[in-house]
Amino acid sequence: MSETIFLGRVLSFDRRCAGAGDETAFTYEEDGAVLVRDGRIIAAGAAEAVRRQAGAAQVVDHRPHLIMPGFIDTHLHFPQVQVLASWGADLLDWLNTYTFPEELRFADAAHSARMAGGFYDGLTNHGTTTAVAYCSVHSESAEAYFAEGHKRGMCMIGGKVMMDCHAPEGLLDTPQKSYDESLDLIGKWHGTGRMHYAISPRFALTSSPEQLEAAGALVRENPTCFMQTHVDENVDEIARAKELYPSAKDYLGIYEDYGLLNERALLGHCIHLTEREVGVMAETGAAPVFCPTSNLFLGSGLFDEASLRAKGIESGIATDIGGGTSYSMLQTLNEGYKVLQLQQQQMHPYTAFDWITRGNAEVLGLRDDIGTLEAGSAADMVVLDAGATPEMRLRQERVESLAEELFLLMIMGDDRAVAQTYVAGVAQK
Ligand SMILES: [Zn+2]
Repeated sequence: MSETIFLGRVLSFDRRCAGAGDETAFTYEEDGAVLVRDGRIIAAGAAEAVRRQAGAAQVVDHRPHLIMPGFIDTHLHFPQVQVLASWGADLLDWLNTYTFPEELRFADAAHSARMAGGFYDGLTNHGTTTAVAYCSVHSESAEAYFAEGHKRGMCMIGGKVMMDCHAPEGLLDTPQKSYDESLDLIGKWHGTGRMHYAISPRFALTSSPEQLEAAGALVRENPTCFMQTHVDENVDEIARAKELYPSAKDYLGIYEDYGLLNERALLGHCIHLTEREVGVMAETGAAPVFCPTSNLFLGSGLFDEASLRAKGIESGIATDIGGGTSYSMLQTLNEGYKVLQLQQQQMHPYTAFDWITRGNAEVLGLRDDIGTLEAGSAADMVVLDAGATPEMRLRQERVESLAEELFLLMIMGDDRAVAQTYVAGVAQK
């Protein structure tokens, strides 16, 4: 039994914060501590009280830095680590020119394994301890993704994409093959350590009706698995989806028809939604995922968070590497803040930091394991330094409150502001 006490300023959100002045939504201790035993949190709060619960614990002193739950990224693409920062006109152009050729390389297990190392380093360097990723169509890529995450003891969600049309030959499976390979991967990885499987039809444009049928069967037969896909990202994409599925009521209606939508469904982008589609999400519990850096980079449009919230829909927030431009959830908040500003919607720093921790955990239904510093949670933590660069230090001199510090972190911060990342109590940097 190994016990460690981490000292620092401790911050964890208990519920969604309404914004400025709502100081009861979180627990914050200036002189705080987190007690960790065998990778799980035993207690977090005032240092004195936490110390009383400790035995002969090793002490790690992070004062005066901020200790928070590790960040959670609810949508990104593992095989796009070398696509990030590729010039392209829009979504479909960018997919065909850069992404599909790059994903072909993941048929090779050795390449996949090497990329997995870089991918996971990228996550933890930026304070992310859980992510939901698409792998390539090749089982090899999913094997590499899960093997590396499992080795690092991380809570990770992912799946091989199912795609059987309208892409290069080497990126296509068939309805049967995609069903069989997904099922094999579910059997091997879903519930192994902290791994979860996501059934992953890439999007309606690259799946035949027969393949969406197979995806629907997988969803029905594996109710504890997640389901992830893309919807309503780009106007040309929407037009194409309607062309391919003329009998569907709308784009989301395609997934609805094949039984893909439930509370474990994650829908990337959701920018150009119809009223009916919003209603379907509210009804099924499928969660939209906001990917601000990607939406800006590909010129896709502005995610309307407030309208979804008004219908009782909680959104996830994510990087969408490689359409997204940064692994950093801090930079994701920075760009997300601006996307909402353009629509006269405000994102308070409390709301923001709750979103990338407890909020995303809640969207995944994994709050018991991740997203807070509550007793019983995994000791997945990030240590943040709001004075990480000379410019941040200069700005920090004028910071007078926790809210101001958090805002400085999300606007000026990136991996340099991440002093340390812990996965199940183990330092990653
Ligand atoms: Zn995506």
